[in-house]
Amino acid sequence: MALRNILKEGDETLQKHCRPVTDFNARLHDLLDDMVETMQDADGVGLAAPQVGVLRRAVVVLETNVDAEAGEEPYVIELVNPEIIESDGEQEGPEGCLSVPGVYGWVKRPEHVIVRAQDRNGETFEREGYGLTARAFCHEIAHLEGQLFLEVSDHILTEEELDAYYASGDEA
Ligand code: ZN
Repeated sequence: MALRNILKEGDETLQKHCRPVTDFNARLHDLLDDMVETMQDADGVGLAAPQVGVLRRAVVVLETNVDAEAGEEPYVIELVNPEIIESDGEQEGPEGCLSVPGVYGWVKRPEHVIVRAQDRNGETFEREGYGLTARAFCHEIAHLEGQLFLEVSDHILTEEELDAYYASGDEA
């Protein structure tokens, strides 16, 4: 496993449409392993393949909706060729991106989504996401269409607005 360089806003790779993954081989497994390591190293909750310069439809998301009191830890979900097949509800809140460091925008997303994807071996599965996880699924899948959150943000939060939001305890 190895850390990969995270491309930053302005790199045109981040604006491109990604192609489906067709080979579920060692190369894909290396990519996913590296993406997980790179996301964790950067303290992120999601990372898409184009962010590390690979124009393929693969993302990793940290599932943070776990029962901490029961000793559960957040864990990584790997999604290959993901698509959102159902979404409902609405949430609003600050959203950031490892490719746009230090910038947070106010973004509306569905509160709940169901994603259909393949795992690293090509097995199809469906997965529900609520809250922050639903937000991360939407954000990461948008990367595969070349879209950054900046394009869907109502406005970019100032440092004061961000401090006030987190001080209010009204986190998504
Ligand atoms: Zn992002």
